[in-house]
Amino acid sequence: MRIATGCIGHETNTFSPVATGIDNFKQGTYCVGAEIVAEFAATSTITGGFLERAADLGIEAVPLLWTFATPSGTVQQAAYEMLKADFLARLGEAGRLDGVFLDLHGAMVTQAHEDAEGDLLRAVREQVGDLPIVVTLDLHANITAAMAEYADVIIGFDTYPHVDCYERGLEGAQIIADMVTGEIRPTMAYRQLPLLTSPPSQCSLRPPMSEAIARLHELEARPGVVTATLSMGFPFADIHDAGCSVLVTTNGDQALADECADEFAQYMWDQREAFRAELVSVQEAIEFARRSEGQPVVLAEGSDNPGGGGPCDGTHILRALIAADFQGAVVAIIADPESVAQAIAAGVGEEVELEVGGKSIALHGEPVALCGYVQAVTDGNFVNKGPMARGKRAQMGRTAVVRVGAVEIILTEQRLQPFDAEVLRSVGIEPVDRKLIALKSAVHFRADYTPIAQAILEVDTPGVHSPNLSSYDYKKVRAVYPLSGEVVAWR
Ligand SMILES: [Zn+2]
Repeated sequence: MRIATGCIGHETNTFSPVATGIDNFKQGTYCVGAEIVAEFAATSTITGGFLERAADLGIEAVPLLWTFATPSGTVQQAAYEMLKADFLARLGEAGRLDGVFLDLHGAMVTQAHEDAEGDLLRAVREQVGDLPIVVTLDLHANITAAMAEYADVIIGFDTYPHVDCYERGLEGAQIIADMVTGEIRPTMAYRQLPLLTSPPSQCSLRPPMSEAIARLHELEARPGVVTATLSMGFPFADIHDAGCSVLVTTNGDQALADECADEFAQYMWDQREAFRAELVSVQEAIEFARRSEGQPVVLAEGSDNPGGGGPCDGTHILRALIAADFQGAVVAIIADPESVAQAIAAGVGEEVELEVGGKSIALHGEPVALCGYVQAVTDGNFVNKGPMARGKRAQMGRTAVVRVGAVEIILTEQRLQPFDAEVLRSVGIEPVDRKLIALKSAVHFRADYTPIAQAILEVDTPGVHSPNLSSYDYKKVRAVYPLSGEVVAWR
């Protein structure tokens, strides 16, 4: 059995003015052919899980192209067309195939396609005809009717932080193998809800999301159900189809799929008020951390999360910490290649004058002028050790730790969501030794930090990834709760 596999992936924040070009994909993860196996084998990722189960089942995985750019603004059409043409050419040259397994995100927007995955899946379907196509999608996929039409089975994540990628990869390999052997003949029901939610409320470590996922698993255990997906959507893509959707796949029983999907969609609709984020101001958060007896207190700055398209150089929290002369704080991270170069030129153990951050998007604050001590310089490479993407290599580019008073700033060349505590340890900072850790992450950090954090506060700062959805001027999304008062029923 031969199954082609690959990914063209991006989570597109249409509120970010920073366009995403081909260089962003090449600087992100970009592998072709056997490089894909070298990159993902033995990692806790979708493709890592797929490759492992495929090997166990005697499937020959045919790796094509796998690329993912760090989330940012709308993808340039030329970049998407180049990647798509390359992917389709490799698919065409792959020889006889029995199926296609795609590890996609589900919230990619290009200049010409609001629904880029729908476009890609249509093209793959046209090329492979009736062959099984199984797709995994992120929990933040804005799933469209086109995606559901052109894929045979869509499998979404059950967790946020996304710690079940490996398991979903195993599941995907098993389902496509069972389709090829004729063991199952999947049929899928898709329901879109008029519901937009923000990342903090989608966290599956706590209610209401933990309860929704438990219910989804009960539904999945029913006889005849193959797999079920609750996608919460990505609210920072202002497209018609942004938001929550439900998919239920059964073994050939469309009536059962429809019934289960309707039931779950109604449940989610009934829960809509519970899916609202609770945020605190920067000042409240700093005061809380100062008074706290234990440590560390984590301040999550979702608005500048580069994992969702934030510029990762916002200065709102840094400025407040320096003004407060906070004792024992770390800011992770600020992507500012210019300041990194200046700190490296000054050298470890030296003082340096910098204008830190605030160079990308005005909403995220002005640069902070400071004189700091260069505490450390590293190559910015580390391996994730926490529950998310464990074993996967990560790069921050050249990295410098600059200290101002008792506030340490991790300055990097590249944008990276600091969800793994190795970001700190790799530059010589032990997280539990600090009073306050400010992270540019919305939810993913919780996988690694929940066991060590004394408290976690979600901070309300302006930005392109703010959990405060009322701060955006939506133009393209259909009528959705809570933005529109017209929505009174889920269909
Ligand atoms: Zn996600």
